[in-house]
Amino acid sequence: PGPLVSEQKPRILLMGLRRSGKSSIQKVVFHKMSPNETLFLESTNKIIKDDISNSSFVQFQIWDFPGQIDFFDATFDSDMIFGGCGALVFVIDAQDDYMEALNKLHLTVTKAFKVNHGIRFEVFIHKVDGLSDDYKMETQRDINQRANDDLADSGYDQIHLSFHLTSIYDHSIFEAFSKVVQKLIPQLPTLENLLNILISNSGMEKAFLFDVVSKIYIATDSSPVDMQSYELCCDMIDVVIDVSCIYGLRDDTEAAAFDCQSSSVIKLNNGTILYLREVNKFLALVCILREDNFDRQGIIDYNFLCFRDAIQQVFELRNENQVHLPLTTNH
Ligand code: GDP
Repeated sequence: PGPLVSEQKPRILLMGLRRSGKSSIQKVVFHKMSPNETLFLESTNKIIKDDISNSSFVQFQIWDFPGQIDFFDATFDSDMIFGGCGALVFVIDAQDDYMEALNKLHLTVTKAFKVNHGIRFEVFIHKVDGLSDDYKMETQRDINQRANDDLADSGYDQIHLSFHLTSIYDHSIFEAFSKVVQKLIPQLPTLENLLNILISNSGMEKAFLFDVVSKIYIATDSSPVDMQSYELCCDMIDVVIDVSCIYGLRDDTEAAAFDCQSSSVIKLNNGTILYLREVNKFLALVCILREDNFDRQGIIDYNFLCFRDAIQQVFELRNENQVHLPLTTNH
């Protein structure tokens, strides 16, 4: 139902100095570009509104600002830009001297906070692939300390910054975006609860609800996430989509690489099963379970269908202005 819904879309802003890696992040996460190709990206000189909501469940826009934008320029409409925005991601190049970036960060968050108290501030300490583990930690500590000191010194103690170590050369950028996006999903506790119920009743180790296009997980059960499991599940999505693209599409149809028939089972040689099922146009469930618990696949499939119904109900409630038709069941 038209404009109402689109105004409600949570919006994520991606900001940072020029060459900090904003366009690369956007291309790698939302447009499947391989990290090496970003070497040839042209620098951004204008605000890019990249509306990915047609291909992705995660309905948000990325505004890529050129690093040197001047907030005090009269043409910069900060009410419009920060007003309806859910999260501001500020990218800092950790391989470079970050003093200028920290100044810009300070300027940006204080400006945004004045316009919008509800905005979440997420700092990506980016390009950490070039740094040793010790140096990564040290850099994060240093940036965290300096940024918070700056805020405290100018009386902005209420502003909370979250920090993430990221790189486009591994899964950390997807993991970080997952955390950012999850904070913007009001239904998250319900989704987590449903996933907890699903795994405990089906003998699963772990389950992720994925946005297929971006490989962002919008929810998982409450057991801790280890990077390796997340990476395995991301890789599985790539395999399924690639195989579908190569062998699943016929020229004469408008078939998509991911549809309601999409499902896949991968058995690893350590007794682990990866199981993927389509949940809706954008979402897939990917779960990890032990091989012996997969013996009774019927139960798992039945539980999955119940889970999928519940997810549909959760998201239908979101559009409250939607008309619900009373349905008749045919038992
Ligand atoms: P923008 O001006 O902020 O949009 O920056 P770009 O996306 O154009 O990136 C600038 C350069 O940083 C490019 O050469 C990218 O290949 C490189 N880059 C981006 N992300 C990473 C990363 O995670 N690690 C490394 N090593 N280089 C990166």
